[in-house]
Amino acid sequence: MTENLQLYQQLILEHNKHPRNFGDLPDATHSAEGYNPLCGDRLTLKLKVAEDGKIEAVRFSGDGCAISRASASMMTQALIGKTVAEADALSADFLNMLKDRSFASDKLDAMGKLKTFSGIWQFPARVKCAALSWHAYRASMGEGHQRVSTE
Ligand code: ZN
Repeated sequence: MTENLQLYQQLILEHNKHPRNFGDLPDATHSAEGYNPLCGDRLTLKLKVAEDGKIEAVRFSGDGCAISRASASMMTQALIGKTVAEADALSADFLNMLKDRSFASDKLDAMGKLKTFSGIWQFPARVKCAALSWHAYRASMGEGHQRVSTE
């Protein structure tokens, strides 16, 4: 557990300091804005989905706490190269993992780096920070430009 917590903190700090795929995506096909009023996290998520249904590029921008930024950064890495159907399934698993302390261990192994966030149910106020970018992803796959709030 201590080892997990250290890994969790290191990865979060590292992604917060050097967020991956941070910035604008001018030729985006999908976008959404996310807001978490409890913490003040705001992000804009943009994705480019190819005609074959594969996610070619994902970028995010905005201001937020370390957990929201690290979660968005790791999410962009996880989504690029996936089909929208695969990404939809992953987002459902991730959001379940955040809340469920008994999330199936075989599913957990398939989460890769994202399982960094699997202990976050212990910090209820932080669950929404970690979930924000994934809610924005789900909103972006709706019709047109979407806004989502965790409240
Ligand atoms: Zn936050």
